[in-house]
Amino acid sequence: MVTIRDVRAICTAPERINLIVVKVETSEPGLYGLGCSTFAYRHELVEAFINNYLKPLLVGRDVSQIEDLFQMMMHNSYWRNGPITNNAISGVDMALWDIKGKMANMPVYDLLGGKCRNAAPIYRHADGRTKEAVIERVQEFMEDGIEHVRIQWGGYGGNKEVKKGPSLSGLYSNSGDYIRNTVELFDYARKTLGDKVELCHDVHERIQPSESVSLAKRLEPYRLFFLEDALAPEQCEYFRNIRMTSTTPIAMGELFNNPKEWDYLICNRLIDFIRCHISQIGGITPAKKLATYCEVFGIRTAWHGPGDVSPVGHAANVHLDLSTHNFGIQEWGIREGILNEVFPGTPVAKNGYVTVSDKPGLGVDIDEELAKKFPAVNTVTEWTQNRLPDGTFQRP
Ligand code: MG
Repeated sequence: MVTIRDVRAICTAPERINLIVVKVETSEPGLYGLGCSTFAYRHELVEAFINNYLKPLLVGRDVSQIEDLFQMMMHNSYWRNGPITNNAISGVDMALWDIKGKMANMPVYDLLGGKCRNAAPIYRHADGRTKEAVIERVQEFMEDGIEHVRIQWGGYGGNKEVKKGPSLSGLYSNSGDYIRNTVELFDYARKTLGDKVELCHDVHERIQPSESVSLAKRLEPYRLFFLEDALAPEQCEYFRNIRMTSTTPIAMGELFNNPKEWDYLICNRLIDFIRCHISQIGGITPAKKLATYCEVFGIRTAWHGPGDVSPVGHAANVHLDLSTHNFGIQEWGIREGILNEVFPGTPVAKNGYVTVSDKPGLGVDIDEELAKKFPAVNTVTEWTQNRLPDGTFQRP
């Protein structure tokens, strides 16, 4: 029996975003696995959870029993389904899949049932201060073969860096301006680009539920690939109203932690794409179950893939993408460069598609000495501090 010898969190920030990776070492010399635990904005808590609670629970146990270990980790603290807990568990879970692949001499996509496709189409982000700048960025992506682009005029919610409110600090946004600008941007995009590109947009839960119902309706003529996070997780009942009034496809889920947040949206067919952040829900084990549940109801996957996911987490996304029949699209937020050096084997996107190597396991390693040169830093998170014009705190 191969057993767990050590479990260790590694924190690093090569792109100045805090990443957390778990290394699970085994009783077999040289056999180890890596998993993503990245919760960029509370990394020291996830690190302590892994080193102080999961390691003592896991050392000496059989590495082959992924499902049993997942259930045990999820219930060991009794209270469960929080972001710190789930991210910590995810690191171990993915590392166990990595180890199982190495033991079986198979890539993880083969363990999950094998390839449904050779590569996963990606979408990239085009943002800009003017609508012309956004569309120029889309055209650059299209020249690189990218067929899906998310377009945003300004930051989320049309953020302005100018502080307009009373004495409270933060970024300010005005939902009326944001909605008008977004509709104008899509009108301009379709007039300029025609129908040859798929367009997405992320509301980032910035506006009121009734405003989101209206926005989805007003964007209907522009044939979106999907409208993302139109509602806050706390207001998901309003997806029924969006469904009843427009045909705009809906994507949701990057903030979800708990299966109770997604189960009724799926079985009532209130969304078209599930967008969970894989480490946030606990790793590959819960993600493969969620993907299968979505398949039953005709819902496709679009796993969250921005810069605050480690290369190991991106690889896990792609292994799922390749082996999931009801895969939809993969968000791609990795910039090539130093990340590929710290994490050899980081997946690389080309011509609008991403794939992984056929190496056993997840196919990504870490250069721990190089990672130490980019220490994770605990600072006060700024980008989540937003306000309405009257100074009211607004969701990020
Ligand atoms: Mg998003």
